[in-house]
Amino acid sequence: MSADCIFCKIISGAIPCKKIYEDDEVIAFHDIKPMAKVHFLIVPKLHVETLKDCDTSHQQLLGKMLLLAPKLAAEQGLKGFKTLINTGKEGGQEVFHIHIHVFGGGKTDA
Ligand code: 5GP
Ligand code: ZN
Repeated sequence: MSADCIFCKIISGAIPCKKIYEDDEVIAFHDIKPMAKVHFLIVPKLHVETLKDCDTSHQQLLGKMLLLAPKLAAEQGLKGFKTLINTGKEGGQEVFHIHIHVFGGGKTDA
């Protein structure tokens, strides 16, 4: 838990979200600014800033997050989808709590 992290605040319930999945290690919710008709984020409850900060101790958690992508995408009605992990400021990351983007269903009009 990091006090000034927006995803930690979502995990704690301090900030609301449109949640689609939760267990003891992972939460998934719709992106607030969707870039596709379906766009959700798979987020570990553990505060890890970026993929660069992961090591073998995170292997099980990362594998679990990745395997949730097809399961949750299917539940959202997607037959196929894209995944994205932005890493570091130079990699387009804006929220420094690791997350997997899942997109599908075509682009939004926005
Ligand atoms: P990044 O650029 O770090 O990979 O992506 C961060 C994503 O988090 C962005 O797509 C952004 O729209 C989303 N996001 C930022 N703040 C919030 C929030 O408060 N709630 C939700 N649901 N998504 C957020
Ligand atoms: Zn966090």
